[in-house]
Amino acid sequence: MIIVLKADVAPESDEVRRIVDLAHSFPGVTTELHQIQGSTRSLTEIYLLGSTGVIPTAPFEEFAGVEKVVRVTEKFRAIGRHDSNLGGVGFDYNGVHVGQDSFHLFPGLCAVDTRENTELMFRALQEHGIQTARAGAYKPRTSPYDFQGHGAACLPWVFELAGKYGIRIIAMEVTHENHVNEIRRALEGSGHATGVMLQIGTRNAQNFELLKAVGQQTELPVMFKRGMGITLSESLNACEYVASGGNRRIVFCLRGMKTNLGDPHRNFVDFAHVPVLRRLTRLPVAIDPSHSVGSRAVAPDGLLDVFHVTAQGIIAGANMVLVDFHPRPEEALCDGPQALLFDELAHFIEDAQIARDAYEARIRRAAAR
Ligand code: PEP
Ligand code: MN
Repeated sequence: MIIVLKADVAPESDEVRRIVDLAHSFPGVTTELHQIQGSTRSLTEIYLLGSTGVIPTAPFEEFAGVEKVVRVTEKFRAIGRHDSNLGGVGFDYNGVHVGQDSFHLFPGLCAVDTRENTELMFRALQEHGIQTARAGAYKPRTSPYDFQGHGAACLPWVFELAGKYGIRIIAMEVTHENHVNEIRRALEGSGHATGVMLQIGTRNAQNFELLKAVGQQTELPVMFKRGMGITLSESLNACEYVASGGNRRIVFCLRGMKTNLGDPHRNFVDFAHVPVLRRLTRLPVAIDPSHSVGSRAVAPDGLLDVFHVTAQGIIAGANMVLVDFHPRPEEALCDGPQALLFDELAHFIEDAQIARDAYEARIRRAAAR
Protein backbone atom coordinates (compact mmCIF):
# COMPACT_ATOMS: atom_id res chain seq x y z
CA MET A 1 0.00 0.00 0.00
CA ILE A 2 1.29 3.47 -0.84
CA ILE A 3 0.19 6.58 1.03
CA VAL A 4 0.83 9.67 -1.07
CA LEU A 5 1.14 12.83 1.02
CA LYS A 6 0.17 16.32 -0.10
CA ALA A 7 3.04 18.40 -1.46
CA ASP A 8 3.43 20.61 1.61
CA VAL A 9 3.66 17.78 4.16
CA ALA A 10 7.22 17.43 5.46
CA PRO A 11 8.53 13.89 6.02
CA GLU A 12 9.63 14.80 9.54
CA SER A 13 6.23 16.28 10.51
CA ASP A 14 4.10 15.15 13.41
CA GLU A 15 1.39 13.98 11.04
CA VAL A 16 3.76 11.64 9.19
CA ARG A 17 4.84 10.19 12.52
CA ARG A 18 1.18 9.52 13.43
CA ILE A 19 0.50 7.86 10.08
CA VAL A 20 3.57 5.66 10.49
CA ASP A 21 2.51 4.76 14.06
CA LEU A 22 -0.94 3.79 12.80
CA ALA A 23 0.61 1.60 10.08
CA HIS A 24 2.86 -0.11 12.61
CA SER A 25 -0.16 -0.91 14.80
CA PHE A 26 -1.18 -3.54 12.19
CA PRO A 27 0.62 -6.87 12.78
CA GLY A 28 3.71 -7.50 10.64
CA VAL A 29 3.53 -4.17 8.79
CA THR A 30 6.67 -2.13 8.25
CA THR A 31 7.08 1.23 6.52
CA GLU A 32 9.50 3.01 4.21
CA LEU A 33 9.53 6.72 3.48
CA HIS A 34 10.29 7.79 -0.10
CA GLN A 35 10.93 11.26 -1.47
CA ILE A 36 9.76 11.62 -5.06
CA GLN A 37 11.56 14.36 -6.93
CA GLY A 38 9.65 16.30 -9.58
CA SER A 39 11.07 19.21 -11.57
CA THR A 40 9.29 21.80 -9.43
CA ARG A 41 8.33 20.06 -6.18
CA SER A 42 9.09 16.98 -4.17
CA LEU A 43 6.49 14.59 -2.79
CA THR A 44 6.68 12.19 0.10
CA GLU A 45 5.19 8.72 -0.02
CA ILE A 46 4.89 6.18 2.76
CA TYR A 47 5.17 2.57 1.62
CA LEU A 48 3.45 -0.01 3.80
CA LEU A 49 5.09 -3.41 3.45
CA GLY A 50 3.99 -6.84 4.69
CA SER A 51 0.44 -8.21 4.82
CA THR A 52 -1.31 -4.99 3.86
CA GLY A 53 -4.17 -6.70 1.99
CA VAL A 54 -6.36 -6.68 5.10
CA ILE A 55 -5.61 -3.11 6.17
CA PRO A 56 -8.45 -0.64 5.52
CA THR A 57 -7.58 2.53 3.60
CA ALA A 58 -10.15 4.77 5.33
CA PRO A 59 -8.22 5.54 8.55
CA PHE A 60 -5.28 6.75 6.47
CA GLU A 61 -7.46 8.77 4.11
CA GLU A 62 -8.80 10.74 7.08
CA PHE A 63 -5.47 12.47 7.69
CA ALA A 64 -5.53 16.04 6.33
CA GLY A 65 -2.07 15.64 4.83
CA VAL A 66 -2.90 12.51 2.83
CA GLU A 67 -3.57 13.03 -0.86
CA LYS A 68 -4.48 9.42 -1.64
CA VAL A 69 -4.00 5.82 -0.60
CA VAL A 70 -3.15 3.34 -3.35
CA ARG A 71 -3.41 -0.42 -3.08
CA VAL A 72 -0.38 -1.97 -4.72
CA THR A 73 -1.11 -4.75 -7.19
CA GLU A 74 1.21 -7.76 -7.28
CA LYS A 75 2.68 -6.69 -10.59
CA PHE A 76 5.80 -4.52 -10.54
CA ARG A 77 5.32 -3.49 -6.94
CA ALA A 78 8.06 -0.89 -6.73
CA ILE A 79 8.15 0.49 -10.27
CA GLY A 80 4.48 0.08 -11.27
CA ARG A 81 1.71 2.66 -11.46
CA HIS A 82 -0.86 0.23 -10.03
CA ASP A 83 -3.77 1.31 -12.23
CA SER A 84 -3.88 4.66 -10.51
CA ASN A 85 -2.76 8.17 -11.23
CA LEU A 86 0.38 7.80 -9.10
CA GLY A 87 2.91 10.28 -10.43
CA GLY A 88 6.26 9.47 -12.03
CA VAL A 89 9.26 8.74 -9.79
CA GLY A 90 11.95 11.19 -10.76
CA PHE A 91 15.28 11.92 -9.14
CA ASP A 92 17.98 14.55 -9.03
CA TYR A 93 21.50 13.32 -9.53
CA ASN A 94 24.63 15.45 -9.70
CA GLY A 95 22.62 18.55 -10.53
CA VAL A 96 20.51 16.95 -13.27
CA HIS A 97 16.80 16.24 -12.92
CA VAL A 98 15.63 12.98 -14.48
CA GLY A 99 11.93 12.09 -14.48
CA GLN A 100 8.89 11.43 -16.64
CA ASP A 101 8.78 15.23 -17.02
CA SER A 102 12.41 15.77 -18.15
CA PHE A 103 14.22 15.52 -21.46
CA HIS A 104 17.95 14.86 -21.95
CA LEU A 105 20.18 13.72 -24.78
CA PHE A 106 23.06 11.35 -23.89
CA PRO A 107 25.25 11.39 -27.02
CA GLY A 108 28.69 9.82 -26.83
CA LEU A 109 31.08 7.03 -27.66
CA CYS A 110 29.69 3.51 -27.72
CA ALA A 111 33.07 2.43 -26.37
CA VAL A 112 35.82 4.61 -24.94
CA ASP A 113 38.88 4.10 -27.15
CA THR A 114 41.53 6.82 -27.12
CA ARG A 115 41.93 9.72 -24.73
CA GLU A 116 41.94 12.05 -27.72
CA ASN A 117 38.61 10.81 -29.11
CA THR A 118 37.04 10.95 -25.66
CA GLU A 119 38.22 14.52 -25.20
CA LEU A 120 36.93 15.50 -28.66
CA MET A 121 33.56 13.98 -27.77
CA PHE A 122 33.13 15.71 -24.41
CA ARG A 123 34.36 19.02 -25.84
CA ALA A 124 31.84 18.84 -28.69
CA LEU A 125 29.05 18.18 -26.18
CA GLN A 126 30.08 21.16 -24.08
CA GLU A 127 30.12 23.36 -27.17
CA HIS A 128 26.53 22.30 -27.79
CA GLY A 129 25.41 22.85 -24.20
CA ILE A 130 25.01 19.16 -23.31
CA GLN A 131 25.94 17.87 -19.84
CA THR A 132 24.99 14.22 -20.22
CA ALA A 133 26.88 11.62 -22.25
CA ARG A 134 27.34 7.94 -22.90
CA ALA A 135 30.79 6.31 -22.72
CA GLY A 136 31.32 2.55 -22.44
CA ALA A 137 34.32 1.19 -20.55
CA TYR A 138 33.12 -2.40 -20.11
CA LYS A 139 31.79 -3.80 -23.38
CA PRO A 140 29.82 -7.05 -23.59
CA ARG A 141 30.74 -8.30 -27.07
CA THR A 142 29.21 -11.07 -29.08
CA SER A 143 32.66 -12.47 -29.90
CA PRO A 144 35.38 -13.01 -27.27
CA TYR A 145 37.95 -11.84 -29.83
CA ASP A 146 36.41 -8.37 -30.16
CA PHE A 147 37.52 -5.34 -28.15
CA GLN A 148 36.14 -5.73 -24.63
CA GLY A 149 36.57 -2.12 -23.49
CA HIS A 150 39.44 -0.57 -21.54
CA GLY A 151 37.72 -1.35 -18.23
CA ALA A 152 38.89 0.21 -14.98
CA ALA A 153 42.13 1.44 -16.55
CA CYS A 154 40.41 4.24 -18.48
CA LEU A 155 38.10 5.43 -15.71
CA PRO A 156 40.48 8.01 -14.13
CA TRP A 157 41.05 9.90 -17.37
CA VAL A 158 37.48 9.50 -18.61
CA PHE A 159 36.17 11.05 -15.37
CA GLU A 160 38.83 13.76 -15.38
CA LEU A 161 37.93 14.73 -18.97
CA ALA A 162 34.20 14.62 -18.19
CA GLY A 163 34.79 17.04 -15.32
CA LYS A 164 36.90 19.30 -17.54
CA TYR A 165 34.05 19.66 -20.05
CA GLY A 166 31.18 19.94 -17.58
CA ILE A 167 29.69 16.49 -18.18
CA ARG A 168 27.52 15.78 -15.14
CA ILE A 169 26.32 12.24 -15.92
CA ILE A 170 27.92 9.48 -17.99
CA ALA A 171 25.79 6.45 -18.86
CA MET A 172 28.25 3.56 -18.50
CA GLU A 173 27.48 -0.14 -18.78
CA VAL A 174 28.56 -2.59 -16.08
CA THR A 175 28.64 -6.32 -16.73
CA HIS A 176 29.84 -7.48 -13.32
CA GLU A 177 29.30 -6.37 -9.74
CA ASN A 178 33.05 -5.56 -9.43
CA HIS A 179 32.64 -2.87 -12.08
CA VAL A 180 30.30 -0.97 -9.78
CA ASN A 181 32.98 -0.82 -7.11
CA GLU A 182 35.65 0.13 -9.65
CA ILE A 183 33.47 3.01 -10.87
CA ARG A 184 32.71 4.21 -7.35
CA ARG A 185 36.40 4.15 -6.42
CA ALA A 186 37.41 5.99 -9.61
CA LEU A 187 34.71 8.62 -9.08
CA GLU A 188 36.00 9.12 -5.56
CA GLY A 189 39.57 9.32 -6.88
CA SER A 190 38.51 11.99 -9.39
CA GLY A 191 37.03 14.09 -6.59
CA HIS A 192 33.58 13.36 -8.05
CA ALA A 193 34.47 15.23 -11.21
CA THR A 194 31.35 13.78 -12.85
CA GLY A 195 28.55 11.28 -12.13
CA VAL A 196 27.74 7.84 -13.53
CA MET A 197 24.43 6.22 -14.38
CA LEU A 198 25.05 2.45 -14.32
CA GLN A 199 23.78 0.86 -17.49
CA ILE A 200 22.48 -2.71 -17.49
CA GLY A 201 22.82 -3.93 -21.06
CA THR A 202 20.21 -5.94 -22.87
CA ARG A 203 22.37 -9.08 -22.59
CA ASN A 204 22.29 -8.79 -18.80
CA ALA A 205 18.62 -7.93 -18.51
CA GLN A 206 18.02 -11.15 -16.57
CA ASN A 207 21.36 -11.34 -14.77
CA PHE A 208 19.60 -11.26 -11.44
CA GLU A 209 22.73 -11.15 -9.29
CA LEU A 210 23.98 -8.10 -11.19
CA LEU A 211 20.54 -6.49 -10.89
CA LYS A 212 20.56 -7.10 -7.14
CA ALA A 213 24.05 -5.61 -6.88
CA VAL A 214 23.16 -2.35 -8.65
CA GLY A 215 19.89 -2.23 -6.72
CA GLN A 216 21.49 -2.62 -3.33
CA GLN A 217 23.67 0.45 -3.74
CA THR A 218 21.95 3.80 -3.80
CA GLU A 219 24.84 6.09 -4.68
CA LEU A 220 24.51 5.68 -8.47
CA PRO A 221 21.32 5.67 -10.56
CA VAL A 222 20.66 2.79 -12.95
CA MET A 223 19.57 2.63 -16.57
CA PHE A 224 17.99 -0.73 -17.26
CA LYS A 225 17.87 -1.77 -20.92
CA ARG A 226 15.02 -3.95 -22.06
CA GLY A 227 15.94 -7.57 -22.74
CA MET A 228 16.12 -8.04 -26.51
CA GLY A 229 14.51 -11.49 -26.62
CA ILE A 230 12.13 -11.62 -23.66
CA THR A 231 8.65 -10.24 -23.05
CA LEU A 232 8.11 -6.73 -21.79
CA SER A 233 6.64 -8.18 -18.63
CA GLU A 234 9.81 -10.24 -18.04
CA SER A 235 11.92 -7.12 -18.53
CA LEU A 236 9.79 -5.18 -16.08
CA ASN A 237 10.06 -7.95 -13.50
CA ALA A 238 13.83 -7.94 -13.99
CA CYS A 239 13.91 -4.16 -13.55
CA GLU A 240 11.90 -4.64 -10.38
CA TYR A 241 14.95 -6.47 -8.95
CA VAL A 242 16.84 -3.16 -9.02
CA ALA A 243 14.05 -1.29 -7.26
CA SER A 244 13.39 -4.02 -4.71
CA GLY A 245 17.04 -3.86 -3.66
CA GLY A 246 16.38 -0.30 -2.48
CA ASN A 247 17.58 1.82 -5.42
CA ARG A 248 14.61 3.73 -6.85
CA ARG A 249 16.68 5.94 -9.15
CA ILE A 250 15.99 3.96 -12.32
CA VAL A 251 15.49 4.75 -15.99
CA PHE A 252 13.97 2.14 -18.33
CA CYS A 253 15.54 2.11 -21.79
CA LEU A 254 14.05 0.75 -25.03
CA ARG A 255 16.67 -0.48 -27.52
CA GLY A 256 14.83 -2.65 -30.00
CA MET A 257 14.02 -6.35 -30.10
CA LYS A 258 15.91 -9.22 -31.65
CA THR A 259 13.78 -10.56 -34.49
CA ASN A 260 14.24 -11.06 -38.20
CA LEU A 261 11.09 -9.02 -38.57
CA GLY A 262 13.39 -6.19 -37.52
CA ASP A 263 15.14 -6.33 -40.90
CA PRO A 264 16.46 -4.07 -42.30
CA HIS A 265 17.32 -2.64 -38.88
CA ARG A 266 19.66 -4.32 -36.40
CA ASN A 267 16.68 -4.71 -34.09
CA PHE A 268 12.95 -4.24 -34.41
CA VAL A 269 12.45 -0.68 -33.21
CA ASP A 270 10.09 -0.74 -30.22
CA PHE A 271 9.61 2.96 -29.51
CA ALA A 272 5.84 2.57 -29.83
CA HIS A 273 6.26 1.18 -26.30
CA VAL A 274 7.31 4.54 -24.83
CA PRO A 275 3.72 5.42 -23.80
CA VAL A 276 3.15 1.83 -22.67
CA LEU A 277 6.07 2.06 -20.23
CA ARG A 278 4.95 5.45 -19.00
CA ARG A 279 1.55 3.93 -18.30
CA LEU A 280 2.77 0.71 -16.67
CA THR A 281 5.60 2.23 -14.63
CA ARG A 282 6.51 5.42 -12.84
CA LEU A 283 9.99 5.44 -14.39
CA PRO A 284 11.53 7.90 -16.83
CA VAL A 285 11.85 6.23 -20.24
CA ALA A 286 14.95 6.31 -22.46
CA ILE A 287 15.36 5.25 -26.07
CA ASP A 288 18.54 4.04 -27.78
CA PRO A 289 18.09 4.67 -31.52
CA SER A 290 21.69 3.63 -32.36
CA HIS A 291 21.48 0.07 -31.09
CA SER A 292 17.94 -0.23 -32.47
CA VAL A 293 18.75 0.82 -36.03
CA GLY A 294 22.42 -0.23 -36.13
CA SER A 295 23.37 1.56 -39.35
CA ARG A 296 23.65 4.93 -41.06
CA ALA A 297 20.94 4.15 -43.61
CA VAL A 298 19.34 7.28 -45.04
CA ALA A 299 15.68 7.62 -46.06
CA PRO A 300 14.82 9.24 -49.40
CA ASP A 301 13.78 12.39 -47.53
CA GLY A 302 17.42 12.90 -46.55
CA LEU A 303 17.09 11.98 -42.87
CA LEU A 304 19.01 9.05 -41.38
CA ASP A 305 16.84 6.23 -40.00
CA VAL A 306 18.51 6.97 -36.63
CA PHE A 307 17.08 10.52 -36.79
CA HIS A 308 13.65 9.20 -37.77
CA VAL A 309 13.32 6.68 -34.96
CA THR A 310 14.72 9.17 -32.44
CA ALA A 311 11.96 11.60 -33.41
CA GLN A 312 9.39 8.80 -33.17
CA GLY A 313 10.45 7.98 -29.60
CA ILE A 314 10.59 11.61 -28.51
CA ILE A 315 7.24 12.58 -30.00
CA ALA A 316 5.77 9.71 -27.99
CA GLY A 317 7.24 11.10 -24.74
CA ALA A 318 10.75 9.63 -24.29
CA ASN A 319 12.70 11.35 -21.52
CA MET A 320 16.22 10.40 -22.56
CA VAL A 321 18.05 9.53 -25.77
CA LEU A 322 21.20 7.42 -25.68
CA VAL A 323 22.96 7.83 -29.02
CA ASP A 324 26.32 6.82 -30.53
CA PHE A 325 28.63 9.49 -31.96
CA HIS A 326 32.26 9.19 -32.93
CA PRO A 327 34.78 11.74 -34.24
CA ARG A 328 36.27 9.08 -36.56
CA PRO A 329 33.82 6.17 -36.86
CA GLU A 330 36.18 4.27 -39.17
CA GLU A 331 38.60 3.98 -36.22
CA ALA A 332 35.95 3.08 -33.61
CA LEU A 333 36.66 -0.20 -31.83
CA CYS A 334 32.96 -0.93 -31.40
CA ASP A 335 29.85 -0.10 -33.45
CA GLY A 336 31.54 2.43 -35.77
CA PRO A 337 29.04 1.79 -38.63
CA GLN A 338 26.09 3.06 -36.59
CA ALA A 339 27.83 6.13 -35.12
CA LEU A 340 26.72 9.62 -36.04
CA LEU A 341 29.37 12.13 -37.11
CA PHE A 342 30.37 15.30 -35.29
CA ASP A 343 29.08 17.49 -38.09
CA GLU A 344 25.67 15.85 -37.54
CA LEU A 345 25.53 16.76 -33.84
CA ALA A 346 23.96 20.22 -34.19
CA HIS A 347 21.37 18.86 -36.63
CA PHE A 348 20.59 15.91 -34.36
CA ILE A 349 20.03 18.20 -31.36
CA GLU A 350 17.74 20.50 -33.36
CA ASP A 351 15.79 17.61 -34.85
CA ALA A 352 15.32 16.10 -31.37
CA GLN A 353 14.10 19.46 -30.06
CA ILE A 354 11.57 19.76 -32.91
CA ALA A 355 10.18 16.38 -31.84
CA ARG A 356 10.18 17.35 -28.14
CA ASP A 357 8.36 20.62 -28.89
CA ALA A 358 5.82 18.66 -30.93
CA TYR A 359 5.31 16.24 -28.01
CA GLU A 360 4.76 19.14 -25.60
CA ALA A 361 2.28 20.74 -28.00
CA ARG A 362 0.46 17.41 -28.29
CA ILE A 363 0.07 16.99 -24.51
CA ARG A 364 -1.07 20.62 -24.14
CA ARG A 365 -3.68 19.94 -26.80
CA ALA A 366 -4.76 16.73 -25.09
CA ALA A 367 -5.05 18.50 -21.71
CA ALA A 368 -7.25 21.21 -23.24
CA ARG A 369 -9.92 18.72 -24.32
C1 PEP B 1 25.36 -0.19 -25.41
O1 PEP B 1 24.52 0.69 -25.14
O2 PEP B 1 26.56 0.03 -25.54
C2 PEP B 1 24.90 -1.57 -25.64
C3 PEP B 1 25.74 -2.59 -25.72
O3 PEP B 1 23.57 -1.65 -25.75
P1 PEP B 1 22.62 -2.95 -25.63
O4 PEP B 1 22.89 -3.55 -24.30
O5 PEP B 1 21.25 -2.34 -25.75
O6 PEP B 1 22.99 -3.83 -26.79
MN1 MN C 1 27.33 -0.49 -29.09
